[in-house]
Formats: sequence, structure tokens, C-alpha cells
Amino acid sequence: MSLDGSHRWPDRSDSLADKAGLIGWFATFGVLAMMALVAEMTTATWSLREAALVALVAGLAVFAGLLLRRHQLTDQSLAAERRQLSTAVNNNPPGRVLYDATARIVICNQPYLDMFGLSPDVAKPGCTMQRLIGHRKETGSFDGDVDEFCNAIIQKVSLGKATRQLTEAPGGRAIEIINRPLKAGGWVATIEDITERTRAERKIAHLAHYDGLTDLPNRVLFRERLEQALEAMQPGEQLAVLYIDIDEFKSVNDALGHPIGDELLKVVATRLRDCIKAGDVAARLGGDEFAVIQTGIKNRSETTELVDEIYAAIRQPFECAGHLITTDASIGIALAPGDGTDLDQLLQNADLALYGAKGDGRRTHRFFEAGMDERARARRSLELELRQALSDGGLEVYYQPVINLRDGKVSSCEALLRWRHPERGMISPAEFIPVAEETGLIDQLGLWVLNTACAEARHWPDHVRIAVNVSPVQFRTRTLALNVAAALAASGLSAGRLELEITEAVLIRDDEAALAALHQLRNLGVRIALDDFGTGYSSLSYLQRFPFDKIKIDRAFIRDLASSGASSSIVQAVVNIAAASEMTTTAEGVETEQQRNLLYILGCTEMQGYLFSPAIPAADVRHLLLSHRGSAVSAA
Ligand code: C2E
Ligand code: CA
Ligand code: CA
Repeated sequence: MSLDGSHRWPDRSDSLADKAGLIGWFATFGVLAMMALVAEMTTATWSLREAALVALVAGLAVFAGLLLRRHQLTDQSLAAERRQLSTAVNNNPPGRVLYDATARIVICNQPYLDMFGLSPDVAKPGCTMQRLIGHRKETGSFDGDVDEFCNAIIQKVSLGKATRQLTEAPGGRAIEIINRPLKAGGWVATIEDITERTRAERKIAHLAHYDGLTDLPNRVLFRERLEQALEAMQPGEQLAVLYIDIDEFKSVNDALGHPIGDELLKVVATRLRDCIKAGDVAARLGGDEFAVIQTGIKNRSETTELVDEIYAAIRQPFECAGHLITTDASIGIALAPGDGTDLDQLLQNADLALYGAKGDGRRTHRFFEAGMDERARARRSLELELRQALSDGGLEVYYQPVINLRDGKVSSCEALLRWRHPERGMISPAEFIPVAEETGLIDQLGLWVLNTACAEARHWPDHVRIAVNVSPVQFRTRTLALNVAAALAASGLSAGRLELEITEAVLIRDDEAALAALHQLRNLGVRIALDDFGTGYSSLSYLQRFPFDKIKIDRAFIRDLASSGASSSIVQAVVNIAAASEMTTTAEGVETEQQRNLLYILGCTEMQGYLFSPAIPAADVRHLLLSHRGSAVSAA
């Protein structure tokens, strides 16, 4: 219903009602006059003039009757229209009051009365604005000065200007009042309850600046706050930007599912929030990236203290859906003004420092240093070139024979990736595997090695197994067992000839999904070896978590075997434990006859190393296996 509609209908109905009343009176008079004349006609003789008069009066009466009928109909439809309008006005949420030019109510609707709990006996046509607002004051929905309030509005609308006010209704609801002057004089006040709208607007504004999951400031607000903090920085003061990246978050998400991943992010958010002081900012920039702005610091040790506090907080294990989850982070730090006073430069340097922390093996923090830029650039170009190599055939798999210490025969060969770089020559997997793991390229890369190696092993004697390295990252994608089954099917290799080498990193988390995948692989008939044993965390408890087929003793122990250190007793202990659980042991990096002899005495099952052969191209391995079929392999 338009405002003009509500404005017009009372005027029109009043004037029409007046007209109808006049016509009714006229018709009644006409009928009475005609009756009198007819009565006279029966008693007197009529002159022509009298007859004409009677005819005229009768005609007038008929005309008046017709008019009356017409206007009775108009009245009915008017009433219907009025009812309709009234319904529309009263059911339309905004309250509306139509004032005439003398600031008296012409009409007001029910929502208006309801909004302020007003009496219809007061708020009715004819009531002055002063009286109306006075009534609001009496009933508690207005607490200003009535005259001042009314005069201000009357003055403005009389100048043809609209006014807008915000006020509060009982129950703390937000009310917006807009007064719009009408051309014909008077004005329409539209009174709207904007509580929900304001709430929704506030929510939208909140969503634009806060992260939905953790309710921390998002990237937009983070930048705004940093901009403000940089501007507010006092001479002699420093400001730190910390970029915090959750280590191996993707693995938690993949292995345990998104709900647990989300839970982890929420826990990290809460802990970060608890670490910062009032006025500082903890934000979530997206995914597993968080950031902190530490303001008002005098020297970098204050930032180191904060970093220690953050590590202590987020390294606390927490329980979620039956999993005990531990988490860690890489942190990159840039300080203003030293590392830049410009927002983007500062952020870029924090990012480079983060990249440096990741490159240093994660679980650690790095302050920005000149030169990080160069290293990061080199890493990025390595990543791009690696992708290129994967699609262009620049990668190759070499194979290193593993020899049985008892009979000297080749029992298996380990597939080791090689990258023949067009300019830099051979690049070590130790250099590019971590980059591939970081970028996720390892999935594709690992799959390619697996398929290539299985296909190659089909050309070897049946008793020679193929060992393939599987990255922890690759291990946690749920499709690993499926990919392995597909590689076996495609190559026609029997499952018992495939050995997967995993590191304890796969088992570091209390990761049921990883264990389940290991069992799936075992059920396929594939053998599982624990690689690099003795490095990293090296806990014998991993041996209890999964029944491995083989333990590969890291070459660090083999190197020190001949010296008087503890290596030989450690190797002895591992060999004993393995033998008790029917696991075999392989010594890695055997380079001397002395090492071989010692390993033989210690009871180690197999050995692998330069003493016999480095990793060699596929064609050379085929040749070696053919020429030594059934006989012991001599040192290369
Ligand atoms: P790893 O699994 O421990 O592989 C053994 C490494 O020791 C190989 O280095 C091998 O060439 C080297 N090696 C063998 N015998 C000797 C020796 O007598 N003395 C010395 N000093 N070294 C010896 P490589 O080929 O450079 O590989 C390094 C690492 O890269 C591997 O360590 C493995 O962790 C990773 N890697 C290689 N290929 C792949 C792959 O296809 N997938 C995955 N995920 N990782 C791979
Ligand atoms: Ca290996
Ligand atoms: Ca190894």
C-alpha cells in the first residue's frame, strides 16, 4: 500500500459521504414533495403550471433516487476498499502516521500503536503530534523533551525536508523514524523496527572481518590492524609480525577428517588468543595460516618470549573425538621498522621467514634475514622445474641392490629417484623430495616411481623384490592402498615382491588412519619396512604399533660401527628385537669390508651400500641380475 493511498482515502470518503448525505436529503425531500402534490391533485383541479411543477419535482426525485443508489454502491465498494487498505496498512510491519499540515494525526496504523504500546484512544485522527509524543512519554517509550522534539520535526518538514531519527523501543528494540513531507502539506512518518536489520547488518560486517570458524580477525581486518599499528608506532618502539603455519595440517585433515581438522584450528585459535596481550592481534589468514601482531616491543627478545609461549601453548596435546592430537607450527617473523615499515614489504618478509622455518625442517621459528629472499626464489624455481621434469620425462628411477649377508645374493633392489637437470646435472632426492612434499607434488611423483618400479621389477628374477620409498605425506592420502593395488595389477607383479619403505614420521601422530592404511597394505600382501631406523625420534614403541617385516638401520650407526661408540650395541639390540618378532634387518650405507664383517657377526640379515653397488640405472640392474642369477654378487 502506498503512502499516498493511505493519505487519499479518508479525504475522498469524507467528501463522498457528504455528497451522499446531501443527495439522500434531497431525495427524501423530493419524495415528500411529490407525495404532497399527489395528495393535492386528488382534491383540486390542476393548472398546467402546477402539472409541470409536479413533473419536475417527480423527475428530480427519481434522479435523486438514482444518484442515491449509485452512491450507496460507491459507498459499499469504498468500505471494501477501506477494509482492504486498512488490512494492508495494519499488517504491513512499518508503523505509519499521516499528519496534516497542522501536525495532527490524519490516520495511524496498528503496527505504530503496537510498536510503542500506545492507546488507540489517544493516537487517533485529530490528535496533535505534541499530544501523541506526550502520550509516548507518559507510557515510557520517549524520554526527550516533547516540545523540542516536535518543533524540530515540524520545522524541518514544513521546509520540505525529510528527517531521520533512531530511537529505542521497549525491550531494547532499535527503531528508525523517517518523516517525509508531502507536497499537499503535512507529512508521513514511517516508523520501522530495524532491530533485525541492524543485527543482520552487524553480522554481515562481522563476517567481512572475522573468520567464521575461529572468530579470529580475518586477513582483511588483520591488514587494517597492521596498518593502524604501523601508523601508531612510536620512535624507539618495534612491532613484530608473526606468520604461523600449522605443520602437517593437511595430514590431520586427510587422515582424521575435516571435523577434527576444524577442531584443531579452533584449539590453535583459542590458544593463540590466550598468548597475546591486550591490544595485540591474533588472526587467521586462511587454511592453517595464522598471524600475530605484537606491538610496543623494545627488542627482539620480547618476541622470542612470545614465540616460546606460543609453542608451549600449541604443543599441548588435546583430545578430540577419541584422538589424542599433538600439533606443531612453523613461525616466520618480521620486525618493523628493521625489516620494513611498509605493510606489504613487512608481510612479504614474514612470509620469507616462514618459508625459511619450513625449509629448516619445520617445528621451528625464524626471524627474517637478508638472503632469505634469494633462497626462497631458488626453492620456488626448483618447484616449478620439478613439475616440468615430471611431465617432460626428466626424472628417472635408479635401483640399488640389497644383498643377503648369509648367501651374498641380491634379495631386493631399492628404487631411488633421480633428476637429471638440464643445467645443474643430477639433483639429489634429498634436495627435491622435501620440496615435493611441501607442495603436494609428492603424490604424483610417488605414484610415478611406484608404477615405474613395479613395471621394472617384472623383468627381474622372481626372488628379487622391489623396495619403494613412500613419503608420510603420500601415506596419509586415503587412496594409497588403492594406488598400490592398481600399480600391482598394471604391472602384473605379485604383491609379495613389493616392499614399501616408510619412516616413523608416518606413526608419529596417534594416527589411526595411517595404521589402518598400513593394515590395508599388509592385507594386499605387500611387505612393510621401517626405514632410517635410529634417526629422528626413534622409539622402539613404533615397532609395537605395527608388525613391520623389516627394519632398515640408518647408515649413521653403520658409519660408527667400527669405532668404540655405542653403535654396535644398538645394532645388536635392534637385530635381537627384530629376530624375536620375525623381522629382518637391513644395514644401510655399508661402505667397507670391516663393516660387512661386523654386521655379519651381529646377525644382521641384509646390507646395502657402496661396498656392493650404488643405485644404478634400470638397464644396469637388469644386466647385473642376469649375470649373477643364482650366484653371489661381488662388490661393484
Ligand atoms: P634412503 O631411503 O635412506 O635411501 C638411501 C640413500 O642412501 C640413497 O640416497 C642412497 O643413494 C644412499 N646410499 C646408498 N648406499 C650408500 C652408501 O654406502 N653410502 C652413502 N653415503 N650413501 C648411500 P639418495 O638416492 O640420494 O636418496 C636420498 C633419500 O631420498 C632417500 O633416502 C629417500 O629418503 C629419498 N628418496 C629417494 N627416492 C625416493 C622416492 O622415490 N620416494 C620418496 N618418498 N623418497 C625418495
Ligand atoms: Ca629408503
Ligand atoms: Ca634409509
